[in-house]
Amino acid sequence: MGWMLIIIPILVVWVASLCKIFLAPSSHSNPTFLNNGPAFQKRNVLLVVAHPDDESMFFSPTISYLTSRGHNLYLLCLSVGNADGLGSIRKDELYRACAVHKVQLQQVQVLDHPDLQDGFGLVWNHDLLAKIIAEEVDSHGIDALITFDSYGISGHCNHRDVHYGVRKFLLDSSPRNIEAWELVSINILRKYSGPLDIWLSNLESMRHPRGTVHWLLSEHPRKSFLAMAQHSSQWVWFRKLFVAFSSYTYVNTLRKIK
Ligand SMILES: [Zn+2]
Repeated sequence: MGWMLIIIPILVVWVASLCKIFLAPSSHSNPTFLNNGPAFQKRNVLLVVAHPDDESMFFSPTISYLTSRGHNLYLLCLSVGNADGLGSIRKDELYRACAVHKVQLQQVQVLDHPDLQDGFGLVWNHDLLAKIIAEEVDSHGIDALITFDSYGISGHCNHRDVHYGVRKFLLDSSPRNIEAWELVSINILRKYSGPLDIWLSNLESMRHPRGTVHWLLSEHPRKSFLAMAQHSSQWVWFRKLFVAFSSYTYVNTLRKIK
């Protein structure tokens, strides 16, 4: 019977968390993210990821926030994810997932550069990444960047290199007043706590100076599943479990890096 004293409160908080997400989502996300002035300003935002499916596994709440508020979202995916020889399939899957996310498909760029191939232990050159990001920023008038933090959520070296590529761009060639944000990596207990993490993310955002950390609650968690399901080649049982139990399906905490 003792275990029920643990399980029941967890279930109660789990259900309460889902209720909070589904019943009044927009009132709980921080509405000032990328919108500091009194009037709404449409921003040109570039999300930079490493592989097809990063956007749906990790950034769904952010994408949902941006598209639902009318920001102009561009997606730069730096590889086709060809580690298992499925690059062309995965590229098509990414476009299908972006259609679910309501990202304009002409604003999705997927690279297949010989020096930026998917894989553990394959180092991506930060200068090359910074140059590619600079070209993307210039050609679309980007004024805000979003990417991984230095741990890269899963610790994948390609995610981490993307972070350092963005950093390099900001250091070397960021010509204008451009904002940059990183998706905060959280510990493994929080990572697999599903919707429960929305409370901790909220508390964490309050611990930081105003405007430097934002928590974005998913307004459509079902869309995360639907988008991830478009990545058919990756949609195996353990990824289904990951998406169900990952807190990144329900909330994103973004920290300002510039
Ligand atoms: Zn990835």
